[in-house]
Amino acid sequence: MQVQPKASHYINGRFVEDDQGELIQVTYPATGEVIAHVHAATPNIIELAIESAASAQREWARLKPVERGRVLRRAADILLQRNEYLARLETLDTGKAIQETLVADAPSAAEALEFFGGAVAAFNGAYFDLGGPFGYTRREPLGVCLGVGAWNYPIQIAGWKSAPALAMGNAMVFKPSENTPLSALALAEIYTEAGLPDGLFNVVQGLGPVGAALTSHPRIDKISLTGSVPTGRKVMATAGGQLKHATMELGGKSPIVVFDDADIENAIGGAMLGNFYSTGQVCSNGTRVFVQSGIRQRFLERLVERTKAIRIGDPLDPDTQMGPLINRDQREKVTSYIEIGRQEGAELLAGGGTPSMQGMDGGCFVEPTVFANVTDDMRIAREEIFGPVMCVLDFESEDEAIARANATEFGLAAGVFTNDMARAHRVTAQLQAGTCWINAYNLTPVEMPFGGFKQSGIGRENSLAALEHYSQLKSVYVETGAVDSPY
Ligand code: NDP
Repeated sequence: MQVQPKASHYINGRFVEDDQGELIQVTYPATGEVIAHVHAATPNIIELAIESAASAQREWARLKPVERGRVLRRAADILLQRNEYLARLETLDTGKAIQETLVADAPSAAEALEFFGGAVAAFNGAYFDLGGPFGYTRREPLGVCLGVGAWNYPIQIAGWKSAPALAMGNAMVFKPSENTPLSALALAEIYTEAGLPDGLFNVVQGLGPVGAALTSHPRIDKISLTGSVPTGRKVMATAGGQLKHATMELGGKSPIVVFDDADIENAIGGAMLGNFYSTGQVCSNGTRVFVQSGIRQRFLERLVERTKAIRIGDPLDPDTQMGPLINRDQREKVTSYIEIGRQEGAELLAGGGTPSMQGMDGGCFVEPTVFANVTDDMRIAREEIFGPVMCVLDFESEDEAIARANATEFGLAAGVFTNDMARAHRVTAQLQAGTCWINAYNLTPVEMPFGGFKQSGIGRENSLAALEHYSQLKSVYVETGAVDSPY
C-alpha cells in the first residue's frame, strides 16, 4: 500500500522536493507498514514558502471577498467529489476507521471552505455617525499566516485554518504533524485546481524544529496552532516575544455530567462518542464522566455492554468502528495510563488490553477502556491521555458536579445530560469551557465558534469569530467640514 506524494512540499502552486531535509517515514498505524516518506523542510524550503506566500498575498487581498469566496467554494466541491479517495488516504495516514473518515474529515474541511467562502462577503465593518463627520471600520487581512496541525484530524485542521485565512485575504503556510503529512498536500493540489493563485496555500513538512523556525520567522504575521498545551506554551511565548497574532487550539480533560433524569441510552451514547471516536484521539473528548448516584449502576452496566460490543480492527473495513492509535509512542503512553489507573485503585470495567489483530501484527491497537470509581485526585482523571480511556466518577448534587467539573486547568469542552432544561442551561452557564453540549457530545458545526477557556486555548476557530481572528480592524475617520485647529 503505497501512497507516496509527488514530493514533500507544496510551494507556489507546485510540488517541491529538497532531500537534504531529515527523512520522515509515514507508517500505516494498523500494520506499521511504511506507506510513504517525506523530507523535513530545510531553511531554503522555509524561505521559499514564506516568500511565495508574501508575494501572492498582496494581489489576493485586493480581490472582492465574493471572488475569493468563489475559489474556496469550488475547492469545497472538489473535496466532496474526491471524498472516498481522501477518506482512504486519511485512514492510511491516521489509522482511523474509514466509516469515520468518510464523514468527519474531508467533509468537515469542505464545510469550512463552503461556509467561509460565502460568509466573508457579509463580514463587514461598521459605520459611525459622528454628527457631520463620520467613521467606518475595515476588516483587513493580517498577511502571511502559519498553520500548524496535530495528527488526529489532518485535513480537517488544514481546512479549518486555511478557509478563514484565505477567505479574509491572507496567505498561509501550513505545517502538518510529522505523523500525518499526506492529506494537506492533497488539499493544496485541490486549491490549485479550484483556481487559487499560486503561493497562497503552501505546505511544508517537518517536526517540532521546523514548526519553531516557522513560528519565529519575522515574516509570519499570525500563528494558528492545534496541538498540546506544552507546545502551545512554547509557540505562544515566541508569538508574544514578537507580538504576533496567535490562535491556540490545545488539549483538554473535559467533563460530561449525567444527571439522574437523563435519557440513559443517549447519555451513554454521548459519553462513548466523547471517549472512543477516533480511538479517543480528540481534543474535546469528555474523558471525565460524572454520573449521578441514582443511575450509576444502570449506566455502568449498559456502558460496559455497549463498550464491549465495539468492533475494533482493520480500519479499511467499513464495519470497523475503532482503528489503532496513531503510533507506538502513543500506544505506550495510553497503556501506561491504563496501568497508572489500575495502580491508583480505579476499577477497570472494560478493555485495558492491547489486542493483536490477524494480519496486523504491527498495529497500535488498544481496547476501548472504562474505569469506574475514579476520584478527582487520580492522574487518569487529571491528565490528558489522548486515547480510548473513559473515567467514570460519581456525584450527588448539582453544585458538587459543577465544582468538580471545573476543577481542572483545562477548559475546552463540557457536556450535560438531563431532561430538565432549566437545569441544563443553569449548569452550562457555570461550566468553564469554550464549547458546551446539552444532550449531545463532540459536534462542532462550522457555524458555531470552537475553542478553549483556561489552558485549552486562545482565540476561536469556525464561525464569524474565526474571521475576526484572521483579520485586523482599521478605523477610518472622515471629516466633512473644515479642520478645527487652534494653530
Ligand atoms: P503536539 O503539540 O505534539 O504537536 C502539534 C503540532 O505542533 C505538530 O505539528 C508538531 O510537530 C508541532 N510542534 C511541536 N513543537 C513545536 C514548536 N516548538 N513550535 C512549533 N510547532 C511545534 O500535539 P500532537 O500532534 O501530539 O496532537 C495532540 C494534541 O493536540 C493533544 O493535546 C490534543 O488535545 C491537541 N488537539 C487540540 C485540538 C483543538 O482544536 N483544541 C484539536 C486536535 C488536537 P510534529 O508533530 O511534527 O513534531
